[in-house]
Amino acid sequence: MKKIGFIGLGAMGSPMAKNLLRNKFSVTVYDICSDRIKTLADAGATAANSPAEAASGAEMIITMLPSSPDVEQAVCGPEGVLKGIGEGAVYVDMSTIDPITTRRIGDIMAERGVAMLDCPVTKGVKAAVDGTLTLLIGGEKSVLESVRHVLQTMGSTLMHLGPLGAGATTKLVNNMCLGAIVAATAEAMVFGAKLGMDMDALVEAVASGSGSSRALITHIKEFALARRFDVPMFPVHLLMKDLELAINTAKEVNMPLMMTPFCHSLYALSKAKGGGKGFFPELITVFEEFAGVEAVLPSGLK
Ligand code: NAD
Repeated sequence: MKKIGFIGLGAMGSPMAKNLLRNKFSVTVYDICSDRIKTLADAGATAANSPAEAASGAEMIITMLPSSPDVEQAVCGPEGVLKGIGEGAVYVDMSTIDPITTRRIGDIMAERGVAMLDCPVTKGVKAAVDGTLTLLIGGEKSVLESVRHVLQTMGSTLMHLGPLGAGATTKLVNNMCLGAIVAATAEAMVFGAKLGMDMDALVEAVASGSGSSRALITHIKEFALARRFDVPMFPVHLLMKDLELAINTAKEVNMPLMMTPFCHSLYALSKAKGGGKGFFPELITVFEEFAGVEAVLPSGLK
């Protein structure tokens, strides 16, 4: 498999497409933003004028787009992937979207003789640049095996989780957990600061106890308590988008959610305050405002 169509050249898609080029695949790219196409064309890709053109003649088509409506538009729209894709091609959606849309698109692809995988990713922009993303994959195992060598140029951990939609579901579960853990830990740290704790001692103690989590060590300690929000990491608006996908999907399957809508509202406060572009642990500043205290880690500011 050599000829790949790649659609969606944002913070994640651009470095992922560059890794394909670095590994000598022939890549045709499309984005609604022409500057992004030009940057990739300068790096050796072929520019396309539409998703249909990017898909035409490609053995594999990848999308890396913001959310479900964007994927539907790029695939099913008037100049969409469906117009150009040929029978026998493999379509891989690496965007974080909802599993119901994934399955609907999978059915349409199957009618056209195209196999589909859903393959959202965890870890962020740095891992996209390094080719060390974790790929959460749903779909037929045999289809995964046929494109494994391509996916391995973008991700170092490939997890096959079940039929089509399993990757999307897993990604939403991960981000539901992440959003809640970061919110709860941020609030608890501000509580500690309000009561006058030495934050270095507090973090060290909690990190060695049952309140610890990967989010405490990274999102909270290295970013929130160190005031590092203006970094090219997972922004508030994207986390909110994923929580919305989970909330909408839960409605479809008639499951009441309580924590996730509440967390969504907390992050909405953070977005209203900071604009939504900052790394999402900046939620801590909302708790700080209510508490009238800053939770900073003296050692983290050095
Ligand atoms: P981004 O907003 O930086 O990039 C999205 C790109 O898609 C943009 O270049 C935009 O112009 C393009 N686009 C939008 N609609 C389009 C359409 N109809 N046709 C063609 N191009 C279109 O987003 P990103 O950070 O690259 O994220 C992409 C996906 O990866 C999202 O689903 C996100 O949730 C997920 N993700 C992001 C991160 C992260 O840290 N940024 C981490 C893991 C997963």
